[in-house]
This record gives sequence, C-alpha cells and structure tokens, in this order.
Amino acid sequence: QALIIDGKAAAASLRAEIGLEVAAIKARRGLVPGLHVVLVGDDPASRVYVASKEKLAAEIGMSSVAHRLPAETSEAELLAKLAELNADDSVDGILVQLPLPKHIDTGRVIDAIDPAKDVDGLHPINAGRLAGGKPGLVPCTPLGSMLLVKSVLPSLSGLEAVVVGRSELVGRPVAQLLLQADCTVTIAHSRTRDLAATCRRADILIAAVGRPGLVKGDWIKPGATVIDVGINRLPDGKLTGDVDFAEAVKVAGAITPVPGGVGPMTIACLLRNTLTAFHARRG
Ligand code: NAD
Repeated sequence: QALIIDGKAAAASLRAEIGLEVAAIKARRGLVPGLHVVLVGDDPASRVYVASKEKLAAEIGMSSVAHRLPAETSEAELLAKLAELNADDSVDGILVQLPLPKHIDTGRVIDAIDPAKDVDGLHPINAGRLAGGKPGLVPCTPLGSMLLVKSVLPSLSGLEAVVVGRSELVGRPVAQLLLQADCTVTIAHSRTRDLAATCRRADILIAAVGRPGLVKGDWIKPGATVIDVGINRLPDGKLTGDVDFAEAVKVAGAITPVPGGVGPMTIACLLRNTLTAFHARRG
C-alpha cells in the first residue's frame, strides 16, 4: 500500500510559512506584497479559481486584487490594463486567468506581462530561463508537483522520471525541473508508441494529460512515486485524476490523490511566486 501524499496539508504548511515571511516584511519594512489577478468574462470555473486565489492570498496577509473585466473587453483594453499593472510598483504578481474569450489572442496577452511580475511563469522569457536552467518564475503546478516529489524522496539524482503530457503549462516545465534535479527524464505524449512500457521505467511518474484513469496499475514500477496532475470531472460530478488510483495505490511507493494532491499546491505556489517576485524586484 502506497503512502498517500497529503497535498492539502503540504499546501497549508507552505502557506503558513509564506504568511510568516509576509508578516516579517510588513513589520520590518512596512511593505505588503501584492498579487493581482485579471479575469475576463464570467466562466464559472474561472470565477471559482479567482475567488479562491483572492481569499488565500488575503488569508496570509498579502494584498490581493481581482480585476473582473466584462466578457466583451477588447484585446486592446486588456493590454492597457496590463500596462497599468506593469507600471504600478505596488503590484508584485500579475496573473491573467485562462482561458480568455476567443476574440483575444492569449499569446499576445502573456507576452505583455512584465516577466518580473509573471507569477504564472508562462512568459517566454521565464520559459526560456527555465529551459536554460537559469533562475526565473516557474509555473505553479510544476513547482507544486516538484515540492510533493521532494517531500517523499530525499534525493532525485539519477532517478528515471517519466512525464506524460507535453503542455507548456505542466508537462514541459515539470520535465525541466526534473532535469535540473538530475533525473533522467522522458517526456511521453499522445504520439508515444508504447506508453505502458515507458511508464514502467519510471521511478517518478508524473501524469498531466486530462484523461481519467489513463495510467493503469500495471504501468507503475513497484515502489514508484506517482504524481497525478490530472483533474477530470466524471459524469456523476466527481473529480478524478489521470491515474487509476485504486489500482495504483497497491503498487506505488507514494501517490497523490485527486482531489487533495497537486491542486492545493498550485495556489500555494502562486503565493510563493508572488513572494519570489517581490524579493527579486524590491529586494
Ligand atoms: P493539455 O491538454 O494542454 O495537454 C495534455 C497533454 O497530454 C498533451 O501534451 C498531449 O500530448 C498529452 N496526451 C493527450 N492524450 C494522451 C494520451 N492518450 N496518451 C499520452 N499523452 C496524451 O493539458 P494540461 O494543461 O497540461 O493539463 C493536463 C491535466 O492537468 C488536465 O486534466 C488539467 O485539468 C490538469 N491540470 C491540473 C492543475 C492542478 O492544479 N492540479 C493545473 C493545470 C492542469
């Protein structure tokens, strides 16, 4: 029976740690790190995400502002909003909630965020820094996944890591982080020929696909650390991951549940990135 990695508890302790640092900055320097989230339109899931980012940032004493713009906001108006936030010294982190309405070019919007305030780590400058092994702002879900891996493995050096999924948001950046930690990294994707055999090599298996139960129990090397990034809603409304948890938990050494695994770490890492951006800009 695998150790079930408690992402909720790990996220709560990370937030508490960040909260102490925020309080110390306030006491010593009278400054409050500021996170600004921009939401365009009224996608219900995005509304929920933005509200919880706002709430958790406020809870640890950060200043958190949500800019809720109407669905018909033009790309030019959104770019003007970002220019304003880029220029405002009290703004440490800027996050544009995705997806954006179809009439707006997402790439152009991300390119317009000051890379020093890009707490989602999606700006090409930050993606390039990560690929080059240089310091920068790293996407939150990959960062959270790595913290969970490190919470159960004392050393990653030389381990075989397999990442299923090659998205800009999760698969690619988490693979870069594993490489930085000296793993031997394989990135598998929808065209991979023998996904089962590839997964079976993994000491660390990261699933970031978006297909419920894709990874079967017999694809897992006994004792492996399994991080399930997938969030899939089943017809009955329940959330489930990309890994067949009931099977995998019998084989793996450690595994994250869905929900309660990577999800809570993502927002905690957003707060951590806001603090990182604060220190990089304001010392
Ligand atoms: P995406 O759709 O951008 O990318 C999915 C990737 O999976 C692609 O690279 C594709 O090549 C690969 N893929 C698709 N079908 C495959 C198959 N049959 N076999 C192997 N590979 C296959 O998705 P994403 O944004 O990377 O998100 C992946 C999952 O993670 C989704 O379920 C998403 O909801 C979830 N997610 C969770 C969090 C979190 O906070 N926990 C954050 C972001 C995304």
